[in-house]
Amino acid sequence: MDGIMKGKRGLIMGVANDHSIAWGIAKQLADAGAELAFTYQGEGFGRRVKPLAESVGSKLILPCDVEDIATVDQVFERLKAEWGTIDFVVHAIGFSDKSELKGRYADVTTRANFSRTMVISAYSFTEVAQRAAPLMSEGGSILTLTYGGSMRVMPNYNVMGVAKAALEAMVRYLAADYGQNGIRVNAISAGPVRTLAGAGIGDARAMFNYQKKNAPLRRTVDIGDVGKSALYLLSDLSSGVTGEIHYVDSGFNITSMPIVSELKR
Ligand code: NAD
Repeated sequence: MDGIMKGKRGLIMGVANDHSIAWGIAKQLADAGAELAFTYQGEGFGRRVKPLAESVGSKLILPCDVEDIATVDQVFERLKAEWGTIDFVVHAIGFSDKSELKGRYADVTTRANFSRTMVISAYSFTEVAQRAAPLMSEGGSILTLTYGGSMRVMPNYNVMGVAKAALEAMVRYLAADYGQNGIRVNAISAGPVRTLAGAGIGDARAMFNYQKKNAPLRRTVDIGDVGKSALYLLSDLSSGVTGEIHYVDSGFNITSMPIVSELKR
């Protein structure tokens, strides 16, 4: 895929460390010749993100907390000043209080954390798209990350599942709105990956092992798998694709019950 992103510039939001899905995507994009800007949430993450970003030649590494809209504005103002236009944005941001990511949804979900989860994990995607679109005068591709707990009940995923359902609906509405500007909007629905955010979900290890046993490919995905599919969705290879929720989950979403031979053992 060498060179398919040559001459393209874009923003990566959501790298926390080298296990982050956003980092897996960034590496694929950089290898394919893209020029990248990065955001990080606060100085603690900044210390980890800066050396990673610099290792792929990035010169624009900016603080951004989506709860503070002024910092989102500053990122896009800086991109406009430095680059004028951009070709793509990756939104790989999610948060919920982990005390509400275990137990029964009906019992543990509070109004305060519901609102916060929705704003950070879902609404921020709309705010990012609203600011990215004016910089995409030649068209572009915007990508977010979701999880199958939006469509089906996954134990402990709780309010995050509700937020991801909103996020997926947003992908379709934004795709419809920006299509006439040549801007495509898609999501990757990734299977479980061991990351900082992933570790916050109750019984994460059990879910991981269950998918490993029962997904058609009999393995979980890694950030390289997600990165390669993201490269497709962010490049001209997917020029006719928008409003899509693309599963990168070893096929787990097509299954309905555990592998019977495994149950018998
Ligand atoms: P991660 O912890 O590496 O990344 C999550 C990122 O969200 C971090 O960089 C964090 O700084 C950022 N973030 C949280 N709150 C923020 C805020 N207020 N402002 C700005 N940034 C904020 O974990 P990850 O698993 O790579 O998560 C990336 C995305 O992928 C998330 O949307 C997550 O829901 C999604 N996803 C993860 C999995 C999984 O199993 N790990 C599966 C499917 C989808």
